[in-house]
Amino acid sequence: MAVESILSSPLGPPACEKDAKALQFVEEMTRNADSVQENVLAQILTRNAETEYLKGFNLNRATDRETFKSKIPMVTYEDLQPLIQRIADGDRSPILSSHPVSEFLTSSGTSAGERKLMPTIKEELDRRQLLYSLLMPVMNLYVKGLDKGKGLYFLFIKSETETPGGLVARPVLTSYYKSEHFKTRPHDPYNVYTSPNEAILCPDSFQSMYTQMLCGLYQREQVLRVGAVFASGLLRAIRFLQLNWQQLADDIRTGSLNPKVTDPSVRECMTRMMSKPDPELADFIARECSEENWEGIITRIWPNTKYLDVIVTGAMAQYIPTLDYYSGGLPKACTMYASSECYFGLNLNPMCKPSEVSYTIMPNMAYFEFLPHEPNSTRDSPARRLVDLADVEIGKEYELVITTYAGLCRYRVGDILRVTGFHNSAPQFQFIRRKNVLLSIDSDKTDEAELQAAVENASRLLRESNTSVVEYTSYADTKTIPGHYVIYWELLGKDSGESPSGRVLDRCCLAMEESLNSVYRQCRVADNSIGPLEIRVVRNGTFEELMDYAISRGASINQYKVPRCVSFTPIMELLDSRVVSTHFSPSLPRWTPERRR
Ligand code: AMP
Repeated sequence: MAVESILSSPLGPPACEKDAKALQFVEEMTRNADSVQENVLAQILTRNAETEYLKGFNLNRATDRETFKSKIPMVTYEDLQPLIQRIADGDRSPILSSHPVSEFLTSSGTSAGERKLMPTIKEELDRRQLLYSLLMPVMNLYVKGLDKGKGLYFLFIKSETETPGGLVARPVLTSYYKSEHFKTRPHDPYNVYTSPNEAILCPDSFQSMYTQMLCGLYQREQVLRVGAVFASGLLRAIRFLQLNWQQLADDIRTGSLNPKVTDPSVRECMTRMMSKPDPELADFIARECSEENWEGIITRIWPNTKYLDVIVTGAMAQYIPTLDYYSGGLPKACTMYASSECYFGLNLNPMCKPSEVSYTIMPNMAYFEFLPHEPNSTRDSPARRLVDLADVEIGKEYELVITTYAGLCRYRVGDILRVTGFHNSAPQFQFIRRKNVLLSIDSDKTDEAELQAAVENASRLLRESNTSVVEYTSYADTKTIPGHYVIYWELLGKDSGESPSGRVLDRCCLAMEESLNSVYRQCRVADNSIGPLEIRVVRNGTFEELMDYAISRGASINQYKVPRCVSFTPIMELLDSRVVSTHFSPSLPRWTPERRR
């Protein structure tokens, strides 16, 4: 029942009093976007005035935008890296932030092959929590009755390490799920999960997925929404069900838990749930899962699902057709836009089509600036051109630049956004892409330089057969689950007759994987979210044909460059029709939670 009588919101009638307050907060923040931003900047500059970083720019305690913009440079992670390393090594002096650094958040963005380390402070958890608390009140405006059932969310923690100075380093979601904010969250009828905390917090990814799936199956009638953080994660869960449904059904049939689940706290809480055998449910699962055709499997098993809660914007858009196949085209809600550096904002119209998703940046989260995205601009002082949140223009593209409470100042996130409109005075952004990402399957991001280095590294193995790689390109193949990288190679043998053996080319696949960054290798080894890398050797002259094709479509012959990543169907078809052999990585690359440096 809507409670217009208690409080109303221009966004729509809130579902309950708590929602009304949350929506009112969204209204307040977005109506006063510019003044909120001014205050946020003043707060950050005041509290961090005595940090080594800000003192170095002689702000002299000024907290106004004008002085800030004229004195503080725009920076990248690499600029801050030496300072961040000192913090990681144990320097507790106020370097970037006056508040003590509580831990490092490890970004899926990498620097020199390793995850970037983002220093954070305790209170940032409250800010993240605040953004989370706005998501269901917005969703309840569009989907009614979510308090009558549960959400089946596949949520996982990842491994953590300690820096030499003793600070924990882990992904932001691991930090959040392990926090008291999450673990001891008060009961909210609109936000009940089928997965118990014990399953989400189990560090073993198989045991965690197994029990989360089992809980979802037991409570199948109650499930109203199915989700994961990213689309790739939900597809991984579907694949897991394909591979494990027999064992899951056996457990349900006998009321006893798979002995592979050994974590004592998980076993204890599952024993409570599995108090008696349920052969009827087991038969149902076996019947549905043994069918060859898995189309619509999500709604067959969880018939009351109203929507999928997964991010399908940015690199994840490649999974939309597969999600549609498994869910019979259920709506896909992209609810929020966030990063390790800072949580940015939310989608105020979460049931819209993926192509129409726009995120409203919440002006209280950090101080936001926008660098007009002009890829070919030669102007030399880009920091002068940064635009404030309230001043961006509809239709234009910008790179996001943030100043955070934790001490990042005018930091380039690397995301390119396009302004689609405004909610009150707060702009709304379509996520266009992340800069410099060539290939991505899950949270991995491989850029052109990394791919080039990997090809160079692997092609050394061809020397023994006097062969070299003359051209290459790549493709993120998401038709398999998990998806995998495909690299097309055109080879040139110096001695006719001697060509590399299949075994050598298999080893080249592994050598490429060994050279890729740690997020890629973690996805391969620990998360099993990327499949073995594949090399497809194409016949001589294929890349020349590729050029001819591009020129026939209007490319300039002088400016033609081999694309290092392809996705356009006719090009894929051309390449695939010229394949002479295919090779897969024969084993897993090396990966440990410890950083290589
Ligand atoms: P991380 O550094 O690992 O925390 O990843 C943060 C990055 O993930 C962002 O900077 C974006 O590039 C991407 N990302 C986060 N949320 C979204 C979203 N809703 N849509 C598209 N990309 C996103």
